[in-house]
Amino acid sequence: MEIVPINKYITEGDEALIIAGPCGAETREQVLETAKQLSQKALARPDGNGQVKVFRSGIWKPRTRPNSFEGVGEDGLKWLSEVKEKYNLKTTVEVANAQHVELALKHGVDILWIGARTTVNPFSVQEIADVLKGVDVPVMVKNPIHADLQLWLGAIERIYNSGINKIIAVHRGFHFFGKSKYRNKPFWEIAIELKTLLPQLPIICDPSHISGRRELIFSVSQKALNLGMSGLMIESHPHPDKALSDAQQQLTPVKVIELLSQLSFPKTFSNNIEFTDKLNQFRSMIDEIDDELINVLKKRISVIEEIGEYKKEHNITVFQLERWQEILRTRTQWGEKLGLSRNHIEKICQLLHEESIRVQNERRH
Ligand code: PEP
Ligand code: MN
Repeated sequence: MEIVPINKYITEGDEALIIAGPCGAETREQVLETAKQLSQKALARPDGNGQVKVFRSGIWKPRTRPNSFEGVGEDGLKWLSEVKEKYNLKTTVEVANAQHVELALKHGVDILWIGARTTVNPFSVQEIADVLKGVDVPVMVKNPIHADLQLWLGAIERIYNSGINKIIAVHRGFHFFGKSKYRNKPFWEIAIELKTLLPQLPIICDPSHISGRRELIFSVSQKALNLGMSGLMIESHPHPDKALSDAQQQLTPVKVIELLSQLSFPKTFSNNIEFTDKLNQFRSMIDEIDDELINVLKKRISVIEEIGEYKKEHNITVFQLERWQEILRTRTQWGEKLGLSRNHIEKICQLLHEESIRVQNERRH
């Protein structure tokens, strides 16, 4: 895939892409007031980061239950073109079918986005891709609601195959059936895997839909930037509590500007020789430690092979519940004494045990 970098069409240098605006457009006044406030400069940042470049708004809202606010439709598109004219912001809306795309393009929307409920459905994504053939417009693809990287990749590929090469992935968290402090659990490792598979693809984070409540937005945004994500998409409403959708997670524009001035925007790369020298020293220490680790693992496996042989001779089962419980209990205790996370040691023990069982089983056949 050859994906155009965002600084070729929307940002400058290595500046983060900042998108903000309401979950949904409700009235002309609300839209224009939000845009006016968001277009102000983030409190002077020496790095030039943190400026809102794109104004977002839902026009057609996919709601979980009927009889909720489902968006203002085409009227909202007229308000968005006023935003462009008056406040020097680019605009983006969510599109879920061919008609939405046609209307958005007719009204000069700069960037389209595909929502989480649409990414899950290949028929809908293909319908959108088909109508985009021959059009040069950037498209953002939110992750599907459930934690399925293939589905996210599939949607990106469908859009790319229709000739669109300005694509941005949006990480908005995943539905999680269980207890979580988030509305949508981040599962950061999925976004990291996507970046590993498609290094050129810019990924931005939507901390609003991950958090589901205002208090978490700062920490989720900072985490995303620390991981090297290329930007943020934040929901904002002049009177968040009165918002017709996603009231609990929207911030006033003033709070958005404040947040943007407080976040730190780490770089993925440094030209500073002193820094790179020092980092390389640390990295060679890690290389040596990992080399030792691999040798220790080899030693462990050699003993496992002997144990496997011995159990086989005596016709004893490979899996020994009590021994496994003992390993898990003691190793996590040893780790905790040294200040290592229990969860980390547990995961390592599980991997070691899985391999031990595999190696011993292999000798039985
Ligand atoms: C939205 O951005 O308002 C939205 C509906 O998000 P998602 O598709 O991520 O749920
Ligand atoms: Mn929303």
